[in-house]
Amino acid sequence: MLNIILCGAPGSGKGTQSDFIVQKYGLDHLSTGDVLRAEIKSGSELGKEIESLIAQGQLVPDHKMIHLIDHYLETRSENCKGIIFDGFPRTVEQAEALTLLLERRHMEAVMIDLFVEEDEVIKRLLERGRTSGRADDNFETIKQRLKIYHDVTKPVCQYYLKKHNYFAINGNNTMEDTFAQIDTILRLIQK
Ligand code: AMP
Repeated sequence: MLNIILCGAPGSGKGTQSDFIVQKYGLDHLSTGDVLRAEIKSGSELGKEIESLIAQGQLVPDHKMIHLIDHYLETRSENCKGIIFDGFPRTVEQAEALTLLLERRHMEAVMIDLFVEEDEVIKRLLERGRTSGRADDNFETIKQRLKIYHDVTKPVCQYYLKKHNYFAINGNNTMEDTFAQIDTILRLIQK
């Protein structure tokens, strides 16, 4: 199994790169942001609880996220070749829980960390905000999301670095250039 954690600031291109990886490697793509937005749309209890958190750029509590991932792993298809975790883990507590959830299933994951300059991610998110309809793609909330990314999510990269399961790449250029770097890493770790 080839399990990848795609890390990077909001707007760093995790969704786009996930699509490229799915196309070439046939992995399953789990975007926790997409799952949460679908919950909100469905009008479920969870959706109602998390709607304002997401709109304010706050994180959904760890225990809810860990439960969601546990359920996903339990119900994933049997012929799954591997999973791209896009947007999870976002806290060290989530990372520790993911290690246990994967170990229990004799699996592990490698982190690929997309580095993009802050000015560039703000530009990309504002551009996306024009068409995405996302409540959190506006300047105020983008600033809040970036603050949380630096304060709370960046330490997750250290967690994987210490485990020697970590690769950093430059995501400032074109999406093709970024994917070429990811592809090199994936070919390396598949061997
Ligand atoms: P994203 O689409 O990955 O940018 O996620 C959108 C929003 O969903 C985030 O700003 C958080 O409010 C919430 N979210 C997504 N993934 C997580 C997570 N792993 N932990 C907590 N909140 C999350």
